[in-house]
Amino acid sequence: MTRPASQPATIPPIGQNLTDLIGNTPLLRLDRFVPHGNLFAKAEWYNPGQSIKDRAVWGIIREAERDGSLSGDKIILDATSGNTGIAYAMIGAARDYRVRLCIPAGVTPTRLKILRALGADVILTDAAQFSDGAIIEARRLYADDPDRYFYGDQYTNEANWRAHFDTTGPEIHDQTQGRITHLVVTVGTSGTLIGAGRYLKSRNPRIELVEVQPDSPFHGLEGMKHMDSAIVPGFYDPGFADVKMGIATEAAYKCVVDLAAKEGLLVGISSGAALSAALDVAAENPDGVVVTILPDSGVKYLSERFWDDI
Ligand code: PMP
Repeated sequence: MTRPASQPATIPPIGQNLTDLIGNTPLLRLDRFVPHGNLFAKAEWYNPGQSIKDRAVWGIIREAERDGSLSGDKIILDATSGNTGIAYAMIGAARDYRVRLCIPAGVTPTRLKILRALGADVILTDAAQFSDGAIIEARRLYADDPDRYFYGDQYTNEANWRAHFDTTGPEIHDQTQGRITHLVVTVGTSGTLIGAGRYLKSRNPRIELVEVQPDSPFHGLEGMKHMDSAIVPGFYDPGFADVKMGIATEAAYKCVVDLAAKEGLLVGISSGAALSAALDVAAENPDGVVVTILPDSGVKYLSERFWDDI
């Protein structure tokens, strides 16, 4: 019997766990932005927690279970501006861990509801100190009672970038049949850049890595860090990328709106920053194969003011 065209060729097997759904995200071609078809985007909202951070957090938890630093009686603790927290809460719920998260108070009510729905215990920190205030509070809690917690410490834990070395990098290599010439990545912890970048360079040292940061210390690019003015992540290497680009928050908003209108993709603000940078790289390299990463879904950002200006 022939299969109707709408039916997928492969159906996932029964009995998969939540964590089996992490990774193996689609690579989309953004033809509506670049007609000559050399710009591709990794759709990270396909992860079960709707962001790329599922990969890093699952890597951190799996490694901690393996080396014994995380056992059933410990509380998972970390500082996070959002997506990492959702990933911890989601995987924690599925694997029976208690999760305590330090989060800057400015986070949207929807984000807090998601975290609480998934059972996380949220500690709000000074909004004016952004993610650095949350990091300082998590460090304090851990220092006060180290036996009580497994401190995931996404900013220094090497399992973060290794998750991208093991999954994100190989997927991009295979999905482009090794033809990728440029990888354009936003940085927060820099786990994605360092891990995926290191893997891709190991396959082809000529691949150019483009690091995307906010263009100023005061920005609305959630999940991203302006490295010159923030606590620098432990494994971040300022000399690692071949090119660095600073993106304005307004430019990112515009690309988010355009992605929804032109491609039907509702993505987060850092995805707009990634696209803004990737469009320049694709225009400068018409014969290249440019890949960028769209880190999360836009659903969590629908209360942002920029949507009202359309
Ligand atoms: N965009 C968003 C929305 C994020 O949550 C993050 C993670 N902080 C990033 C980009 C940057 O990813 P990474 O931590 O791997 O540098």
